[in-house]
Amino acid sequence: MRTLTIDLDAIVHNYKTMLARTEAAVLPVIKANAYGHGMVEVAKALEAAGCGGFAVADVAEGLVLREAGVKAAVLAWLHDPEDDFVAAVANDIDLGIANLPQLAKALAAAEVSGETAHVHLKIDTGLGRNGSTIDEWPALLEATKNAVETGKVKVIGIFSHLSSTGEAEDLRQVELFKAALAVAEGMGIDYEFAHLTASDGSLAYPSAHFGMIRVGIAMYGLDPFSSNRAAEYGLRPAMTASAKVSQIKRVPAGTGVSYGYQHVTERETTLALVPIGYAEGLPRNASGKAHVNINGKSYPILSRIAMDQFVLDVGDDNVQVGDDVVLFGDPAKGHPSVDELADAADTINYEIVTRMGGRFKRVYVGGGK
Ligand SMILES: *Cc1c(COP(=O)(O)O)cnc(C)c1O
Repeated sequence: MRTLTIDLDAIVHNYKTMLARTEAAVLPVIKANAYGHGMVEVAKALEAAGCGGFAVADVAEGLVLREAGVKAAVLAWLHDPEDDFVAAVANDIDLGIANLPQLAKALAAAEVSGETAHVHLKIDTGLGRNGSTIDEWPALLEATKNAVETGKVKVIGIFSHLSSTGEAEDLRQVELFKAALAVAEGMGIDYEFAHLTASDGSLAYPSAHFGMIRVGIAMYGLDPFSSNRAAEYGLRPAMTASAKVSQIKRVPAGTGVSYGYQHVTERETTLALVPIGYAEGLPRNASGKAHVNINGKSYPILSRIAMDQFVLDVGDDNVQVGDDVVLFGDPAKGHPSVDELADAADTINYEIVTRMGGRFKRVYVGGGK
């Protein structure tokens, strides 16, 4: 009745498109259930296409990938303060390390599990989220150097994250990142990958790719700038959200529709009931602003979006029970874009796709399936 169609071929295509734009390695970011697209299915399709590593936020997400049989490298950087990292190290999950206590836990976990802890040191060059401050950086490097000498810790990467506040600020962070790398190199820290940019910075600053780029939203065919330019980059949206019309009725002029009668029919018309509500992740504040497509025609959602459903006024059009209603998908196929719905809800495309869920069923197409 309600379907999120996930085009795995589009995701693989977007991965290859990003690879073609860079000399660096491409690390797809598949946290938060691959931004709502399905983490395990996305990882498997990309792994089959030759992708050698993924990023998630939490270790718990990384463990789900391991349980599903994903063999590629996995990096997790946002840690549960109670996590001792033993499961992470035992399952070969690379750890983003922001401070001395985290480093100590990684070393202890390596000792317990008998495996080497693989770490990516995180320096905060300005976003103000996780990562070592610039002041604490030399002490973290010194402790890392000692940990590496035990043979129990290996530094795979050094990374930071841009704030996307504006070009001048981003470029200032690029310089701070280079300085942090120079300090590490000066202290004799060996690492494989420096990585700074996510989708936005990767598309905007090709000179700041370093050894690896972390690509989230662009992997799903969406534009990090929320200006609906994904197609310009050759990216294809991978998610289509749709449902089937579940009821049709003819009503007279002056009929109030849905809670609060935000819409009252102007003349005799047909109402079509669509079983997608805010439980599925359709923001209620898009009521009166979003639009959907049925049989290639656009209809505004004039009445209030409820938990389970919304109602369309389709006039005298021949809309039938069972017709497909597309909430968003690929604009190249005539669907409303994710960005249009995001604008209607006063948010960004990231939030729309990531929150799609509820009673939607994910159906995978492509990717060898
Ligand atoms: C989520 C995240 C990314 C991916 O960001 P996109 O804008 O989706 O490409 C990269 N790096 C870090 C640290 C993140 O938290």
